[in-house]
Amino acid sequence: MSLFTAVEMAPRDPILGLNEQFAADSNPNKVNLGVGVYFDDNGKLPLLECVQAAEKAMMEKPSARGYLPIDGIAAYDAAVKSLVFGADSEPVTSGRVATVQGIGGTGGLKIGADFLKRVSPNAKVLISDPSWENHRALFTNAGFAVDTYAYYDADKRGVNFDGMLASLNSAAAGTIVVLHACCHNPTGYDITAAQWDQVIAVVKAKNLTAFLDMAYQGFGHGIAEDGAVIGKFVAAGLSFFVSTSFSKSFSLYGERVGALSVLCADKEEASRVLSQLKIVIRTNYSNPPIHGGAVVAAVLGNPELRALWEKELGEMRVRIKAMRQKLVDGLKAAGVQQDMSFITTQIGMFSYSGLSKDQMVRLRTEFGVYGTDTGRMCVAALNSKNIDYVCQAIAKVV
Ligand code: PMP
Repeated sequence: MSLFTAVEMAPRDPILGLNEQFAADSNPNKVNLGVGVYFDDNGKLPLLECVQAAEKAMMEKPSARGYLPIDGIAAYDAAVKSLVFGADSEPVTSGRVATVQGIGGTGGLKIGADFLKRVSPNAKVLISDPSWENHRALFTNAGFAVDTYAYYDADKRGVNFDGMLASLNSAAAGTIVVLHACCHNPTGYDITAAQWDQVIAVVKAKNLTAFLDMAYQGFGHGIAEDGAVIGKFVAAGLSFFVSTSFSKSFSLYGERVGALSVLCADKEEASRVLSQLKIVIRTNYSNPPIHGGAVVAAVLGNPELRALWEKELGEMRVRIKAMRQKLVDGLKAAGVQQDMSFITTQIGMFSYSGLSKDQMVRLRTEFGVYGTDTGRMCVAALNSKNIDYVCQAIAKVV
């Protein structure tokens, strides 16, 4: 009998479990479309030039590693605010945004969830159906009851927007609604600007709390275009939460760079909110690490490096779009009868392929092509060398 005798084995993380299976697969043609990571056309994880330049400058002037402030590097937090709300925007100039550096986008979400549990302990959380799986786990672990709002319509291959509005309309006042700011994970379907206006009207009318998850800014239509939804929420006069992740947009996955921003009513309220966010951080991990935040702050704060980042991010975005088109064309050429053109109407790193669990399992076991059982494939991991193989494999299972 030990202290841990009754501890149960936790289920494996579905996506990281796929990675382990992929690593153990001896098929020389294997392709990993499971995890949400961007690879270049050579199948390599990019190390962006803007990041290398910032790191080179940092190495030339090495600095000692004291503790950061609880809320992170001041220049980083300022850069996040400018990126999310606009440097000259009213929320930024009036000082009513509380921003803290987070450990990746996940860290930003978790700080927000823990803070919300203090201010709205009885609120329910709604996530999209389906959503990034960790949304449910993270808000559940923060102590919330988590439910879903309608989102994906498999028959229509798109968003069930009426269903989404109906779900939000029937939510109780104070409900926390987690919204994907752009490039919806896992479906790849976003709502339109006009539909955002309708969502915002319901959020306002029903007094819901919006929590925008921004993990793919720049992967959809462009940095400004993907961030435009923030301006809409500001214009509606709402207070809301935004989590930011630079994992994908800077290809800095392992550095864990993210943030949480909370738009408050005024500067004084923002300083009270900030003080509470700092308590959450202090009692979880005390203060964030330096390197990733310093790199992002250096790039965003230097006009030349910033322009280089925008160019490199643009190249990633364009390459993904090209792969979507190649996938549609390749599937047709491989003999797939059904119209797969919906793949090019999706946006961001993922495609809900519409393939069944059985088909996904066959892709994996017979062809070494790994996607999730839900049919999600990471199109950002396709390249000119593996695309034909993937198309032929899909053609054989559909
Ligand atoms: N939100 C969504 C929707 C995501 O897809 C991800 C990453 N897969 C995250 C948040 C977390 O990002 P990070 O890796 O920076 O913690």
